[in-house]
Amino acid sequence: MAQQTEQFKDLGLDSRLLTALAHQGLDTPTDIQDQAIPVILSGHDLIASSKTGSGKTLAFLLPVLHRLMKSKALSKRDPRALILAPTRELAKQVYEQLRSLTSGTSYNIALLLGGENFNDQIKLLRRQPQLIVATPGRLANHLNERSLMLNGLELLVMDEADRMLDLGFAKELNQINDAADHRHRQTLMFSATLDHAEVNEMAERLLKAPKRIAVGAANAEHADIEKRFYLCDHLDHKQALLAHILATQPYQQAIIFTATRPDTERLATLLKGEGLSTAALSGDMSQAERNRIMDSFSRGQFKILITTDVASRGLDLLQVSLVVNFDMPKQAEEYVHRIGRTGRAGAKGVAMSLVGPNDWDAFKRVERFLQQDITFVSFDGLEGKFKGVRPVEPAKAKAAARGNGYQGKGGPNAYQPPKKKKPVKAFKDRSDRLAPGTGLGSFDGMAPLKRKKPTDETDS
Ligand code: AMP
Repeated sequence: MAQQTEQFKDLGLDSRLLTALAHQGLDTPTDIQDQAIPVILSGHDLIASSKTGSGKTLAFLLPVLHRLMKSKALSKRDPRALILAPTRELAKQVYEQLRSLTSGTSYNIALLLGGENFNDQIKLLRRQPQLIVATPGRLANHLNERSLMLNGLELLVMDEADRMLDLGFAKELNQINDAADHRHRQTLMFSATLDHAEVNEMAERLLKAPKRIAVGAANAEHADIEKRFYLCDHLDHKQALLAHILATQPYQQAIIFTATRPDTERLATLLKGEGLSTAALSGDMSQAERNRIMDSFSRGQFKILITTDVASRGLDLLQVSLVVNFDMPKQAEEYVHRIGRTGRAGAKGVAMSLVGPNDWDAFKRVERFLQQDITFVSFDGLEGKFKGVRPVEPAKAKAAARGNGYQGKGGPNAYQPPKKKKPVKAFKDRSDRLAPGTGLGSFDGMAPLKRKKPTDETDS
């Protein structure tokens, strides 16, 4: 991080904002705040990348509020500022920060999330909020229903624009842009990376002569997060490693990421059976249920959260000191978001990733993305036989591709299972593979089991 010379009070922010910051014990801006706030205050459009946990929310909320406080509204009826976020959890978090910054003011703020009651939101909109935080799908629904107009919008902020585009919200973003299409609008776009073709295309369309700020690239080292990688043979080996990690590693709270929704439930049941205070969160739960789980986790009411990538972004959970990738994420950038759930605001964190044969391609993508040669570590007595993918000789690869002994995807980097297989024990489902009393820690002699096809998590 660059040398910080300025304090918030040197940035020329409204005194009400400085008071709110002082209440939160914040006096020195982070890198992204230091760089983005003056640009936004000067009225420029901005496209900024900043690593996760770097303080980017305040980097846009503070100058947005300052501008509203210092200028007259273009319209009394329409919202003055709109902040879009890809997931309901992230939108809620931005909303909370906004509320705490505006607690001493008369600003009316609305949170419009997909999955929540539409009519209740119409009632909120009738009160003519000056600021709206929303997920893009729901905001577009309100435009369609004409419960909201954006003709008077002064500031449009897209938080995690890359993620919104990855989730397929390009159409909604264009619609929102068109609804607020006038020359007085200032537009700010935040993205984990600026190396994203769709983000750049969208920026071309939506931003006017934007300033560009890149603070700590998305693949930059998270200095406060220690990354460890463990090779695993199969699912039972992963479970044994997970049990060992949770029994031996110090942590305040932990998040465990799995590839699929059924896995979150299954692992939560197993960990609860081990007496660990655990809950599962997945995208198919109702919004109320997800809110309840996230609230109680952030209040420390349970120690372990098991989830899919639905919770990998934005969430600010200062007590999380351990992240376990039970499965490697499909996208390399997702790895950075997941491990960014720990090491928040300068705290130390550990991220442990379990890499089995099915994770190998994803692991290599992460390795390339981080631009590091990763070495594996192991726990005594829990070393696996899998040592990564061995290149396959061309003749064998051909035979494999014909279906002769071939397992999994082909190609020269295909995983070659060991020749001598142990006898396969058949289990009907994955929860009954643990013999009574062996707990999570037993894996010897158990054969790798096929997973169900992963289901993607999306929010709207
Ligand atoms: P964000 O990147 O916006 O998710 O913020 C990550 C965390 O950093 C949040 O807990 C913020 O409250 C905290 N934070 C934001 N700005 C500062 C600052 N200037 N000094 C210390 N902590 C901060």
